[in-house]
Formats: sequence, structure tokens, C-alpha cells
Amino acid sequence: MTTPDTPDHANVDPAEIDKFDPLASRWWDPEGEFKPLHQINPLRLDFIEKHSPVAGSKALDVGCGGGILTEALALRGAEATGIDASEAPLEVARLHALESGAAVEYRRITAEELAAQQPAHWDIVCCLELLEHVPDPASLVSACAALARPGGAVYFSTLNRNLKSFLLAIVGAEYVLRLLPRGTHRYEKLIRPSELGRWCERAGVTVRDITGLHYNPCSETFALGPGVDVNYIAYAAAPAPS
Ligand code: SAH
Repeated sequence: MTTPDTPDHANVDPAEIDKFDPLASRWWDPEGEFKPLHQINPLRLDFIEKHSPVAGSKALDVGCGGGILTEALALRGAEATGIDASEAPLEVARLHALESGAAVEYRRITAEELAAQQPAHWDIVCCLELLEHVPDPASLVSACAALARPGGAVYFSTLNRNLKSFLLAIVGAEYVLRLLPRGTHRYEKLIRPSELGRWCERAGVTVRDITGLHYNPCSETFALGPGVDVNYIAYAAAPAPS
């Protein structure tokens, strides 16, 4: 649940927080509700490393949940910070980091609030599987862009909005294959790459690479590849320092 210290005007949807909070203890179960995130994690890390040196970077993971990506960034040598709007996943993330020994910092704060405190601070800003869960995704894109230093990188991943993504990512993944809990995604909240590109431009960052994350139901594995009809990940560059 959001608590009174989450301002009413924050770009946080309490119904979305209430979807994730009850699953908090499940974050690190590789066969649990977050299995797809564990499966795609090495792929998204590879995509990030293709564009940004991770070792030695200051990396921010926005909407970090239990810290699946945050810890992986730290293990590859980043000074990694994870932020989330909710305390429940952060408690799990902190406990897991104690066990694994990953040097990560976790804070309960929104991207918009952190952008006011530490603008242009981060080499790498990741906002993965979050845009489709907030009331105002354009505001979140803008906050992520503001958090990146000049010449830094911002990464977004989300789900496209079309008939194919409805059939595969909602009907298929939630109801047929049960890869994700029912109700995880709402069709009208999904985001077309053209919309993401526009919000990035308005925020002053430019999408330079975008690729699909494809699920193969026969092998039950994911792979990066062309085609952004369903799941996709994008790299946006912040303007180089003048
Ligand atoms: N980015 C992670 C987890 C995505 S699940 C990954 O891909 O591995 C979405 C997470 O975003 C949940 O932990 C939820 O608590 C958090 N969240 C929801 N709304 C948020 C907001 N407005 N700001 C930050 N985190 C938010």
C-alpha cells in the first residue's frame, strides 16, 4: 500500500503498487511470479552493455522491485542504486543484497523526486517494465532523462500496444501460459514505440536503438531480436556535454 508519505500528486498508481506488494517475498524465486524477469535479465544487461560501459558507472534502476537488475548491474561493476515507490519490494531487495554481498543502495523515492535532488547525476538510468504501470508515463520519461548526465544513457523497456501484443502478452502470457499473474498488464496502459520516442524527444533524449524481446513458448526461453510488436527495450542517449 502507498502510505501517507507518498504525496497524492506523485506519479504513482496505488492500484499498481497493490498488485506488486503482496508478491514481495517472491521476487527472488526464479520459478515464481517474477520468473520472466529473471529470464530476461541477462538479455537486458547485454543490451545495456552494448551501449554503455557498466563497470565503474553510476547506474540507477528506477522501479527496481526486488533488485533483480540492480544487483546484476552491481555485479558487473556499477555503483548501483535502486529506487522504488513502495517499501515492500525494497525490504526484500535490501535483505537479498545482504545475503548476496552485492554493494547496492536502495531508496524509496520516485524518479521525479530524485530528479529534483540529483539531476544529471547518473551515467546509466534504467526504467524497465515500469512505464506501463504509472499514471503519467511521459512525466516518468522526462524524469529519467533529467537524471542522466550529459552523454549518459537511459533505457526503457515496456510492451507495445496492438492486437498482437494483446493476444500474446495479455491473453497468452497471463491467461494461457500463466507466465505472469492475471491482471499484471492493462491493454490501454501499453506503450507504442512511437509514443516513447516522442516523449523522449520532448525530454531531450534521443532513441538510438530499440529491439524486441521475444518469447519462444516451445523452448520457454526469451531472445533479443528484430521486431518490436510485443516486448521491447530501447536505448536513449542524453546529449553529449557541450
Ligand atoms: N524494474 C524491475 C521491476 C518492475 S515491476 C524489473 O524490471 O526487474 C514494477 C515495480 O515498480 C514494482 O516494484 C513497483 O512497486 C514499482 N513501481 C510502481 N509504480 C512506481 C513508480 N511510480 N515509481 C517507482 N516505482 C514504481
